[in-house]
Amino acid sequence: MNFSFTSEEKELRTTVQNFLAEHYTDQVRAEYVAGRKGEGWGKAIREFYAKVNERRWFAWSWPVEYGGGGGTRTAQFIIEEEFFRTAGIQLGGGTGAPAILAFGTQDQKEEFVPPSIRREIIFCQGYSEPGCGTDLAGIRCRAQLIGDKYVINGQKIFTTNAQNATHIFLMVRTDPSSTRHRGLSILLVPMNLPGLAVRPLWTIQNNPPAPFGTTYGEERTNEVFFENVEVPVSSLLGEEGGGWEVARRGLNLDRVGAWRYLISVMRDEDIVNWLKSDDPLPLLLKDDPDVRNKIAEIWVEAEVCRLMTMRSISIEQRNENFSYEGSAEKVFAPEHSVRSTEAISQILGPYAQLMQGSPAAVEKGIFAHNLLGAFQSTVNHGSVQVMRDQIARNGLGLPRPKR
Ligand SMILES: Cc1cc2nc3c(=O)[nH]c(=O)nc-3n(C[C@H](O)[C@H](O)[C@H](O)COP(=O)(O)OP(=O)(O)OC[C@H]3O[C@@H](n4cnc5c(N)ncnc54)[C@H](O)[C@@H]3O)c2cc1C
Repeated sequence: MNFSFTSEEKELRTTVQNFLAEHYTDQVRAEYVAGRKGEGWGKAIREFYAKVNERRWFAWSWPVEYGGGGGTRTAQFIIEEEFFRTAGIQLGGGTGAPAILAFGTQDQKEEFVPPSIRREIIFCQGYSEPGCGTDLAGIRCRAQLIGDKYVINGQKIFTTNAQNATHIFLMVRTDPSSTRHRGLSILLVPMNLPGLAVRPLWTIQNNPPAPFGTTYGEERTNEVFFENVEVPVSSLLGEEGGGWEVARRGLNLDRVGAWRYLISVMRDEDIVNWLKSDDPLPLLLKDDPDVRNKIAEIWVEAEVCRLMTMRSISIEQRNENFSYEGSAEKVFAPEHSVRSTEAISQILGPYAQLMQGSPAAVEKGIFAHNLLGAFQSTVNHGSVQVMRDQIARNGLGLPRPKR
């Protein structure tokens, strides 16, 4: 077992750091933040993305013929770490592209994967519905095959980034007589079709808005409504009725990446840096043995989060199958972020409550906002309870619980 990076990999990290120092300017950051809010992309962020794309860094380990760099997964991990830490930018093709590569027809791969990598196509994920999140077997949004078109009716909820997305990766029930996971299918649906409407759902971070870098700082998610929305039959991904397997594999592929652990540990790095600073408050705190103990505990867990992600990267690189490892990571990292935000709030005492805009807020209130947001990470993208069940079955070989 060798945990160190090769000299080429270390060199790549320096190259990426230098690139970001030169090209990720304040203007690019401002336009990136505006873009996330649905205000469109400016010239600076477009030029920045074009430079990233020239280097094929958006998807370094993906096949060259679909716009990737054909490199190793470890090298991609290094690029992902640097981009997410400095810029908050998540690399890879986003929701959709990994599953399209795995299940798509040749035409679908060519149509969707390269533009997804270039950020020209952006998918949002349309799985959850009112009353059905953990147990997607309850999906009611319907797509009826009429002639050579699917006609979609129903509603999705918590559809994050729908306000910016060009397409929705949509799970629908194509067989009305089916129950549970059978009869579900995935459709690749453009967002600009007649009958499709997006309504904002504001999160706890909306007022006051979280400062840049707050890990769970999304102000907005959405509801999406479908009223007789028509798409051609070629929008089907995989087989009709095979949507559950497509979604399951897609979620697994989408779960692996440096950003997955970084969202849970980046604020740990911030609190350590803040404690080391010469501000008056940290000067009072940094010699306190309780503070030092707490920080050391947080740091040990943060290292475990990183190593768990690196194990997943290594499994992917060797083309081996995940059994429980991704689920274990999805339990440990979000629960770490809850423990860590709580520990940080104990260290900060009353300052932990002061958010962006308050004159006495610590680091623009980033720790206060993170405390508000961290808990949702234990629910979204597969809740920790469900992940524990998968660990029990796939990792430990325990029987499926009786219904
Ligand atoms: C900020 C945010 C962004 C999101 N973005 C998206 C998105 O982009 N696209 C999308 O499709 N969805 C999205 N979701 C939805 C998310 O995937 C669901 O919230 C999640 O799957 C839980 O579903 P639910 O909210 O219906 O809660 P429920 O399913 O009602 O679960 C509530 C609690 O009960 C527990 N529970 C439920 N069933 C079991 C069981 N059988 N055994 C043990 N415990 C159980 C769960 O673990 C959870 O803790 C987002 C959610 C949030 C909060």
